[in-house]
Amino acid sequence: MDNKMKLVFPALSENEQFARTAVIAFIMKVDPTVEQITDVKTAVSEAVTNCVVHGYPDKKGEILIECELLNDALHIKISDFGVGISDIEEVLEPFYTSKPFEERAGMGFTIMRTFMDSFELTSKPNVGTTVSMVKRLDKIA
Ligand code: ATP
Ligand code: MG
Repeated sequence: MDNKMKLVFPALSENEQFARTAVIAFIMKVDPTVEQITDVKTAVSEAVTNCVVHGYPDKKGEILIECELLNDALHIKISDFGVGISDIEEVLEPFYTSKPFEERAGMGFTIMRTFMDSFELTSKPNVGTTVSMVKRLDKIA
């Protein structure tokens, strides 16, 4: 059964748990495996945390999550409307972080790419950033 939903909420760290729980609730209908649930939770956490920490370093803003279930796959886009990224290639490098003194590992995007079946990053300085990902939720034989 195909389905879709959108969520908009303030970019606050306490909303990270809400966001991943809401996305999991949305996909439960297709009976995902424990591993698929963990993978989606992890990717959503990393993307939302990035919006909070990097997208809005010193102003308030909103995060938009758009989800679609299509043929037993989750298509998810997580966006902020904050500072944006000027060099996309650079931030996608494993271990790259612009905040090395805040105990960041620079592994968020690498984790999202590893845990999801497809991953795309689009961004424009002072406009915002969107992460688009797909996770197959059909039973792997
Ligand atoms: P970790 O996720 O391991 O805590 P990190 O957040 O620095 O560390 P990534 O999630 O891989 O690592 O992100 C890499 C870099 O990309 C960040 O350090 C930041 O400079 C930039 N970045 C990530 N998301 C955004 C965003 N939403 N807006 C602006 N810059 C971003
Ligand atoms: Mg991160």
